[in-house]
Amino acid sequence: PKEGEENLRSPICCIMGHVDTGKTKLLDCIRGTNVQEGEAGGITQQIGATYFPAENIRERTRELKADAKLKVPGLLVIDTPGHESFTNLRSRGSSLCDLAILVVDIMHGLEPQTIESLNLLRMRDTEFIVALNKVDRLYGWKTCKNAPIVKAMKQQTKDVVNEFNMRLTGIITQFKEQGLNTELYYKNKEMGETFSIVPTSAITGEGIPDLLLLLVNWAQKTMVEKLTYVDDVQCTVLEVKVIEGHGTTIDVVLVNGVLHEGDQIVGPIVTTIRALLTPHPMKELRVKGTYVHHKEIKAAQGIKITAQGLEHAIAGTALHVIGPDDDIEAIKEQAMEDMESVLSRIDKSGEGVYVQASTLGSLEALLEFLKSPAVKIPVSGIGIGPVHKKDIMKAGVMLERKKEYATILAFDVKVTTDARELADEMGVKIFCADIIYHLFDQFKAYIESIKE
Ligand code: GDP
Ligand code: MG
Repeated sequence: PKEGEENLRSPICCIMGHVDTGKTKLLDCIRGTNVQEGEAGGITQQIGATYFPAENIRERTRELKADAKLKVPGLLVIDTPGHESFTNLRSRGSSLCDLAILVVDIMHGLEPQTIESLNLLRMRDTEFIVALNKVDRLYGWKTCKNAPIVKAMKQQTKDVVNEFNMRLTGIITQFKEQGLNTELYYKNKEMGETFSIVPTSAITGEGIPDLLLLLVNWAQKTMVEKLTYVDDVQCTVLEVKVIEGHGTTIDVVLVNGVLHEGDQIVGPIVTTIRALLTPHPMKELRVKGTYVHHKEIKAAQGIKITAQGLEHAIAGTALHVIGPDDDIEAIKEQAMEDMESVLSRIDKSGEGVYVQASTLGSLEALLEFLKSPAVKIPVSGIGIGPVHKKDIMKAGVMLERKKEYATILAFDVKVTTDARELADEMGVKIFCADIIYHLFDQFKAYIESIKE
């Protein structure tokens, strides 16, 4: 970059919200139209993420007459609900997700997972924009395909506008009840204090230009420091997956720096990057099982890595790269830090439930929740991944001490058949849920039933 010009990386944005609010569809909408209409292309479906180049964003937001210069190369959006780890985890003090979209269904308002997402975002101090989705479902809505929202609203009848306003007011009140000020983005005079709401339709595209522009503008206006590209590799494991022909692979998000084929990586084992893979661009997504190989990849990107020994990798942890002058032992120690920070949260009194979660990040979030004053459930043990017999054995220790704590709270993980059988035999309770609050509700009901 020229002197005085910022060298920014793409902001990383995640989509959160209750199930069925339209998170996936919103991304489809941003991607799809462009691909179908053959507009400024270059959008790539990445590993667990979609990369939207600035060129594309400019095209999509043209109608908003935004003369603001796009300083970021693009926007990397993390799209699946499975990627809890991404929003939850802070790697050495800095949050990986730069900002978020919180999707709310205008017909349903705030739902349990909306509130859960909201709390996670607040806990991490992550800025977010509310997409008030499914406006096309307002009775009598007149479609204005891909139009900016103000233009679309002008086309609507009084009845539609009234219903919109009524629902919007209700939702703003619901946010207020959560201690949050929100306002329609074009009426919001104090961005930062008050969170912006962008009405959208993921089916007909109204409000999508607004959402894109707001995200990018907000990021480059308020996060220049955070978004300034640095060479130090900052990389987080999203998922550990077995892929036919590649063995165990990890899907990562590279936030900063460059990864090369042959780089030595640590996290938690030391190994060498065999291949850096991304899927083929959008149109070729259906080509089964083939990936594009890269010699090197620069941040911010979503990447699949193949290497020996990746079955030991843990989703939610940081991946460290060993440079020529680095001390491997020191880096190994650093890699343990993530794990230890989680372990240190556990009450050492030794009495409490056993907690099992899918990723280090979700485990961290769950522990934080269980510790909160309104909940206060003590934890005596933790695990990551499916519930196995050994976990039942560990939880079973409580049977002698405090029977109600001989319980496993399993968050977003499977329970093996063996484990289930053993639990029944021993009298260890297992509660499973994909929503943190549901675990709490189940456990609370169980405690009450015991008391009776
Ligand atoms: P997710 O669970 O949040 O990812 O939700 P999906 O994207 O899978 O959407 C859930 C359902 O809502 C699907 O049937 C979508 O077609 C529908 N949907 C999503 N967005 C919209 C929208 O803006 N308008 C309407 N009418 N339906 C939508
Ligand atoms: Mg989805």
